[in-house]
Amino acid sequence: MDTTAHVHDSPSRTPPVIDWPAPERVCIPLRQHQGKAAAVIVTIGQAVNQGQLLTHSDNLFEVPVHASISGIVDTITAQQITLRQTPNGDAQTGSITRQSQQPQGTTITTLYNGWSRSEYLQRIHNAGLVGLGGSCYPVAAKINKLGDKPADTLLINAAECDPSICCDEALLNHSIDEIAMGICLAQHATQAKKTIIGIESDKSALGQLLLTSVLNCCAQQFAAHTELQVVPASYPNGAESLLMSHCVGRTLTPTDIHESQLITFNINTCYSLSQALILGNPCTHRIATIIDSQHNRFNLRLPLGTPISDLIAYYEQRRDCTIVVGGEMMGTEVGLDAVVTKASNCIQLKYVKTQPTVRPCVRCSLCVDACPVSLKPQLLLSAASTANYTNLQTLNLQNCIECTCCDRACPSHIPLAGIFAKSKEQMRQDTHARQMANLAKARYEKRQARLENSKQREFKKLDKKQSNLNQPEKAGQQAKRKLVEEALQRARDKKKNQPPANNNTSPADGQS
Ligand code: SF4
Ligand code: SF4
Repeated sequence: MDTTAHVHDSPSRTPPVIDWPAPERVCIPLRQHQGKAAAVIVTIGQAVNQGQLLTHSDNLFEVPVHASISGIVDTITAQQITLRQTPNGDAQTGSITRQSQQPQGTTITTLYNGWSRSEYLQRIHNAGLVGLGGSCYPVAAKINKLGDKPADTLLINAAECDPSICCDEALLNHSIDEIAMGICLAQHATQAKKTIIGIESDKSALGQLLLTSVLNCCAQQFAAHTELQVVPASYPNGAESLLMSHCVGRTLTPTDIHESQLITFNINTCYSLSQALILGNPCTHRIATIIDSQHNRFNLRLPLGTPISDLIAYYEQRRDCTIVVGGEMMGTEVGLDAVVTKASNCIQLKYVKTQPTVRPCVRCSLCVDACPVSLKPQLLLSAASTANYTNLQTLNLQNCIECTCCDRACPSHIPLAGIFAKSKEQMRQDTHARQMANLAKARYEKRQARLENSKQREFKKLDKKQSNLNQPEKAGQQAKRKLVEEALQRARDKKKNQPPANNNTSPADGQS
């Protein structure tokens, strides 16, 4: 593989963005988002170009995936599609567009204000856009959640959540105008009444530049309500609910945000919005921070589906390393066959270190003091160990942002955040199963009621029929009785009018 990297200049000490060359082979997972996979629309042996749709669905929660390299479809499974470059294939590495694509003398308003919300949704969905801050929530479904109403607040998350990740800052350094245009498009798509750019204090100068760039290209009605909010640079202030709480000045849980007209986009998502809607480039690459075993950091623009073993081969001398996807605070270990997905904001290459022994909870409450969203991890742990979903719900497990602050405070080395993440998934599945069971029960009861109603209707019909049948019989009987009575009356009348019989007639008369 040609490992020639394309390095962009970096005005700060943040590692610059490097275009990773197109790999010989990519394995593109069909599901890289929250939701089901879309239907595969290619066949084995088919030649595909970079950016071509591999799956399709009209459901906004079934986000399509695209070819991240040009090549041939090698294998298709229920989980992934493998593409390989052809020997003479036109491998494209893609590049970060450094200059604004905005045509001279025009604004985003004049170009894109004519689109209806459904047009935005369709284009965003077809480009395979998901939240690139790590959540992977389908962008079109997120906007669709607003209904026909405008968003009360559009929060642009420019605060890197995990201190070890710096891909957002690198993107701000290199593509601030593209991010700004993405923000303007998000304003149009959501019709936001207010836009807040939230950034940590150590990047406030970049935040100011971003605000200026947004004000230069956004519409008048949005410009008047766009502002920058600087939050303290401390973990986990970049988490959506905490940043939103800081910016709107009241405490909000993830559930509060989900159920309101508040909406958040990460700056990486805004960048992909401008790439998709202005240039027509679907989501085929993502920028990720790579941390090697020597703690060196690199920001790479990687084709989706790149095997992480390629990165290990390039950056490490040994192959037996452990891969952690996510930052130092929230990363999770994955297998050596893992590939780059839309969720891979950070990839750490580490050598196995001895895990500390996990001991039982000593009820010291240090985890309670450490929790930034005021949960009680100690009680959550006890409810999770007995799979008591009712208690977990009462203790607001759903508001856990999996920041691992409690893990780090725990003297017993209990992997609390991991346990809570699993419990949340189980709770979701349990709620879903209960909803399905309730739906099935409601359907059964409706059917029973329908059957009962139709039975009653049948009975009524039969009754009516019976009474109708009885009706002519009665009438016939009455008529008969009337006829008989008339006949009897005639007989009586006849008898009455008959002359009396002559009793004096002699038998001799008859004999004569
Ligand atoms: S992971 Fe722990 S500290 Fe972080 S929000 Fe959840 S319970 Fe609180
Ligand atoms: S910090 Fe650990 S040991 Fe202490 S109460 Fe929390 S879970 Fe238990």
